[in-house]
Amino acid sequence: MGVVDAVMDKKRKSLLEQIEAEAGYTVSYTGRRRFNGQVMSAMAAVPREKFVQKALLPFAYDNEPLPIGYGQTISQPYIVALMTDMLDLTIDSRVLEIGTGSGYQTAVLSLLAKRVYSIEKIPDLAELASKRLKKLAYDNIETRCCNGYQGWEEKAPFDAIIVTAAATHIPDALVKQLKPGGRMLIPVGLQYMPQELMLVVKDKDGSIRSQSILDVSFVPLVAEDDEKDSEMGRTS
Ligand code: SAH
Repeated sequence: MGVVDAVMDKKRKSLLEQIEAEAGYTVSYTGRRRFNGQVMSAMAAVPREKFVQKALLPFAYDNEPLPIGYGQTISQPYIVALMTDMLDLTIDSRVLEIGTGSGYQTAVLSLLAKRVYSIEKIPDLAELASKRLKKLAYDNIETRCCNGYQGWEEKAPFDAIIVTAAATHIPDALVKQLKPGGRMLIPVGLQYMPQELMLVVKDKDGSIRSQSILDVSFVPLVAEDDEKDSEMGRTS
C-alpha cells in the first residue's frame, strides 16, 4: 500500500469512529444507537477520496459535506450512514436514489442492495458520477440524467427510495413508486431553514406513515416548474 493510501485508510477508520460516536449521541432522535454492521462495512469499503475534487483531498474523510461544483455538495458521511441504515436494505432490495451528485451515496447503496437506480439533473455531474462508478467497478447501478421529481416509473416499484436534496413536500409520484413494505428517506424543508429528515413507510396494506427523524441541511430538490422558470430566464 502506498503512503497516500495508508493515510487515507487511517483517516477512513477515524471517520468510522466519528460516525459511531455521532450515532450514539443522536439515538434519542433516530432510535438507532448503532448502525447495522453491513452499513458500516459499506462505509468502510467506499473510498470517499475518489468522490471529491483533488483540491479537497485533505478533507475527504472529514465528517462534513464538501462542494462538488455547480452549487452542490457531497453529503456528510454521518448522514449518508444514517439514511442508508434507516432504509433497512437487504441484498434483494431495488433502490431509487434522487440526486446522484458525486455518486458517493450511490456506491454505498450498491454494496448493500441488488440494484440501484440513481437520477441526477445536472448533466456534467451525472456524467462524471456515472464514469466514476463504472471505473470503480460498481456494476449494479443504473443512472439517468433528468429531473427526478417524478421518480423512475419504468423501474418502479422500489423497496427503498432515498432523496438526497431537500423537497418542499413529499412528492406523490415517489410515494406511489414505493412497494408495500417499502421505506423512503427524504429531507423536507426550505434551503437555509431547518429541514426535517422524514422517514416515509408504506405498510403492507398500502397505508402511509411518516415520521420526522432529525434536522438536516441539504441543497434544494429542484422542482420541474422551477427549472422551466429558469430556462425561460425568469428568476422569481
Ligand atoms: N448524494 C449526493 C448528494 C448530492 S447533492 C452526494 O453525496 O454526492 C444533491 C444532488 O441532487 C445535486 O447533485 C443536485 O443537482 C441533485 N438534484 C437536485 N434536484 C434534483 C432533481 N429534481 N432531480 C434530480 N437531481 C436533483
